[in-house]
Amino acid sequence: MSGFIFNIIDKINSQLIRRFVQLFFLGIVIIIGIQFYDFTAQLENGKIPDIERPPGVEAFLPISALVSLKHLFLTGKINEVHPSGLVIFILVCFSALLLKKSFCSWICPFGLLSEYLTKLNAAIFINPLKVPAWPDYLLRSVKYFLAAFFVWSIFFKMPANAVMQFIYSPYNVVADIKMLKFFTDISATALIVTIVIMLLSVIIKNFWCRYLCPYGGLLGFISLFSAGKIRRNSDSCTGCGKCDRACPSLIKISDKKIINSDECTACMKCTGVCPEQNTLELSILSRTVPVKPMAVAFILLAIFAGGITIASVSGNWHNKVTKKQYLIYMMSQGMLNNKIAIPAMRDNIKMEKMRKMMEMMNNGKP
Ligand code: SF4
Ligand code: SF4
Repeated sequence: MSGFIFNIIDKINSQLIRRFVQLFFLGIVIIIGIQFYDFTAQLENGKIPDIERPPGVEAFLPISALVSLKHLFLTGKINEVHPSGLVIFILVCFSALLLKKSFCSWICPFGLLSEYLTKLNAAIFINPLKVPAWPDYLLRSVKYFLAAFFVWSIFFKMPANAVMQFIYSPYNVVADIKMLKFFTDISATALIVTIVIMLLSVIIKNFWCRYLCPYGGLLGFISLFSAGKIRRNSDSCTGCGKCDRACPSLIKISDKKIINSDECTACMKCTGVCPEQNTLELSILSRTVPVKPMAVAFILLAIFAGGITIASVSGNWHNKVTKKQYLIYMMSQGMLNNKIAIPAMRDNIKMEKMRKMMEMMNNGKP
């Protein structure tokens, strides 16, 4: 009986379930953003914040997470500056190994924004612009070049001592605050680039996700080895082409048995529109284990909730930078409000000096 009810819910509401999960994660991001904004504002005014820094903010530091991953390989330890960034990065990569680029279409707030910009595209244009095949192919490779550049630079070109220096550098410690300032004090150039990308995303469907996002490029590569894939039963398929027309990643589904494409985000729009029973399904390892939208939602929530719980219990979720240290690091980076910043402190505090200050603080107040 419960299986029957789940089937009905899945059939009617596959996209509603996905939207609910997207909004759930968007809600978490907004809460984290508000808390982190408050934390940063107090620091900028020279105060020790009376609220905690939300560790989840490190999700927005993928390059720092890549360096942290190399640090993990080199030392066997999760660094103490941005541990949650590394944990989230590993969980996202794990989700791609299990359920394609589901992170992009089920969790990522930029993926959600991209979907709404695509809706705008459909509302504005009667004949939406279609990028011809070969420019589309060339443009799609940009995100892979960007991802490959970061992986190559960090894993193959960055020496071990540079990894250590980067992890404990003042720049990396306050990278999350710099990232927040990027949005709250956005420069004219960054604003123009953002507006251009958003406009292009209205004119060309999924412009950012399809062509430029290096995180998506990395996940696309990992997803080639994904256990979960969309599988089509060619015996019961009538070739109606509804799945092809529904796919936001423009994948030609109706002539394949298994969708191996690196562009598949496991959004399940295709499975939702297929009129034939047991014909098009997301399944893990073989067609005998179909995964319904409810199950995808549950698996993704379990991956992130489980991973974060394990990280918390093992002491690898909250970083070890104290609020006082944040204040000093912000001074060293000239990030305090001018009125209250001590000029001498803002002038290039050397890393060695910074380390000693941190040691003194840690020794003085455990
Ligand atoms: S519609 Fe189907 S094939 Fe296309 S991205 Fe979504 S799940 Fe993948
Ligand atoms: S929607 Fe279903 S029946 Fe139609 S082409 Fe796609 S897989 Fe075949």
